[in-house]
Amino acid sequence: TPIIQLNDLYKSYGSTPVLKGINLNVSPGQVVGYIGPNGAGKSTTIKILIGMLPDYAGEATVLGMDVKTNSLEIKRRIGYVPENAALYDTLTPMEYLQFIGQLYGLETGQIERKALDLLRLFQLNDYTNARMTTFSKGMRQKVLLISGLLHNPDVIFLDEPLSGLDANAVVLVKEIIRQLANSGKTVFYSSHIMDVVEKISDRIIIINQGQIIADGTFAELQHQRPESLEQLFAELTGSE
Ligand code: ADP
Ligand code: MG
Ligand code: MG
Repeated sequence: TPIIQLNDLYKSYGSTPVLKGINLNVSPGQVVGYIGPNGAGKSTTIKILIGMLPDYAGEATVLGMDVKTNSLEIKRRIGYVPENAALYDTLTPMEYLQFIGQLYGLETGQIERKALDLLRLFQLNDYTNARMTTFSKGMRQKVLLISGLLHNPDVIFLDEPLSGLDANAVVLVKEIIRQLANSGKTVFYSSHIMDVVEKISDRIIIINQGQIIADGTFAELQHQRPESLEQLFAELTGSE
């Protein structure tokens, strides 16, 4: 059974349609890149999938559950890191992660162990108790990713997780995304750049103006892309 399923999803803001009939199924353990230019509808799709935007038409299920039920069970099994997320940077990573972990009902010792493991994985273990006001964009993004993984979700939604990171941070975050899938998690993440996604994505879904216009492995998209996609491909590959 698919772990993420969208059937005929339509979403408008006021009278402006932004998602115009999205259909997709995602299998467990895959890394799926959801790629498209700014304004295509990537964040809106993700917000619907995590149950944040209940006002839509069509069907959206995650882990076999309708996202509109907004159940605690889904919340516990989903991780989400918003686009350009802000964190409380007067805290240290450990303080911040305690704050987030407690919102998920985790107990202090459990959070600490998990946080230390993840801080090590993200090469932030030397900064566990440093105030984050001095952190680079890449370090902040890593802490945000950790905050989305703390409760050990099965499915992780990352909205533009690689945007604005320096080259080293991009490499590390890509490796970690791959590792998450290798450990059985499903990762659904968005990007407005093609370059950064090709090597880690099992599957790439291209969205433009609220519609899916291509879907496959990077190699498949390279070989099968229709001529109408050429321009968009060039845009997504060349831009930052
Ligand atoms: P992407 O993440 O691909 O850049 P979004 O899903 O954020 O695209 O936005 C899709 C379209 O919907 C854009 O035209 C955007 O301006 C519009 N939009 C997004 N959020 C809102 C909102 N809360 N109210 C009105 N329009 C919105
Ligand atoms: Mg955008
Ligand atoms: Mg967005």
